[in-house]
Amino acid sequence: MTYEPVIGLEIHAQLTTQSKMFCGCSTKFEQAPNSSICPVCLGLPGVLPVVNKKAVEYGMLTALALNCRIVPHNIFARKNYFYPDLPKGYQVSQYEQPLAQKGFVQLEINGRSQRIGINRVHLEEDAGKLLHQNSKDNKVSWVDFNRTGIPLMEIVSEPDIFSAEAAKAFMVKLRDIMAYIGVCDCNMEEGSLRCDANVSIRRVGEKELGVKAEVKNMNSFRFLQRALEYEIERQVAELEAGGRIIQETRLWDEAKGITVSMRSKEEAHDYRYFPEPDLVPVMVEEGWVERLSKTLPELPDEKRTRFISQYQLPAYDAGVLTSSRELADYFENCAKLFAEYKMLSNWIMGELLRELKQQGVDIKRCPVNPENLANMLKLIQQGVISGKIAKQVFEEMYRTGATAQDIVKAKGLEQITDTQQILSIIDQVIQQNPDSVAAYKAGKTRIIGFLIGQVMQLSRGKANPQVLNKLLADRLKDQK
Ligand SMILES: [Zn+2]
Repeated sequence: MTYEPVIGLEIHAQLTTQSKMFCGCSTKFEQAPNSSICPVCLGLPGVLPVVNKKAVEYGMLTALALNCRIVPHNIFARKNYFYPDLPKGYQVSQYEQPLAQKGFVQLEINGRSQRIGINRVHLEEDAGKLLHQNSKDNKVSWVDFNRTGIPLMEIVSEPDIFSAEAAKAFMVKLRDIMAYIGVCDCNMEEGSLRCDANVSIRRVGEKELGVKAEVKNMNSFRFLQRALEYEIERQVAELEAGGRIIQETRLWDEAKGITVSMRSKEEAHDYRYFPEPDLVPVMVEEGWVERLSKTLPELPDEKRTRFISQYQLPAYDAGVLTSSRELADYFENCAKLFAEYKMLSNWIMGELLRELKQQGVDIKRCPVNPENLANMLKLIQQGVISGKIAKQVFEEMYRTGATAQDIVKAKGLEQITDTQQILSIIDQVIQQNPDSVAAYKAGKTRIIGFLIGQVMQLSRGKANPQVLNKLLADRLKDQK
């Protein structure tokens, strides 16, 4: 029997606003515990929260990038539950009238284009953070409310995802889009981007959805894919063994490589949602949406398509170069100065990205600026240095930040193309190796390789190989 998985993702992104969702407290990461709090984010009685306009605009920008319809009259709601990191007893979120609905993203999976629906984009506040101290004679839990009230955006996909691989691709795509717009720093280690997945399986050909489990705690792309692969296998094995799937929340345990049951899954009615009485609805006028949409930057897909047409780059190159806005900008800044785009792309994807990766450096802090790289490529193009010597020059540029011209000059690395200069070295080699020349004349023509090597050695690798080959062959002919 064959089964297919059906997956829907819920992605929580922390918005990069300066202040929290409903108060003026700072959102800076890693401050002293409980130093960035106030009566509003603690939910003390009698306080009045106020919506952060920037957070709403970041949500709207994301929604527009995901082809969503902005809900013109959207409201905040209380989601009631108690947890020690949420002592006010409810989280302010959006429920019946979220910020935006009904969008989609286009994904490329195994060379095939697929559309994944976006059910909704809504805003909410984060809860606090618990720290458990568990020593032999001291069991204590600490709570830090700095996170409380941090603006979160939740993006919920339709159950349009049919493999663990596609789920990962979808999340990577959302990360890229949000990073391009600059609404989230997408730092998964710091928890700025988190993902939960609803997973069910059904027999191939069936229309109805199976019972789903929700998998939580996946904070990297690799964990997401591994957790889903495991969960799909677990559900198939359960059904094959004659069991049934129960609706529950499961946690991904990375160390053991399994998902474990945490609790039975809540239904929406468990939360007794109702409109937040302390906040007015957000009225979105048409003009506001229009103004915002004009500020949307070129998104990853558009940029990739433009790179292919404008710079005549292969799709692969365009994909790598537009993987971040900063890398794309770096390429375009170089391209203004050096118009052999494929050669430029090769150097950026090869030498430059390799060095950056090895040193763990972000392109934003790249020690070789676009002007220096372009100038070095010009030196290759003009025949001043060979491609091989250029790699040496590039390493030096990366290490010291010096210009290619200075390095070439200081180290005397210019390629020798001057015929007279090369000829004089050739004559020297011919004089010093009469036996080899005689052997060549006797028909052992392969010995020319040895003679070329001798000339290269004398020129310290700088003789232009094409010029050298031709001159030496001519000279040996003249020797008859
Ligand atoms: Zn506050």
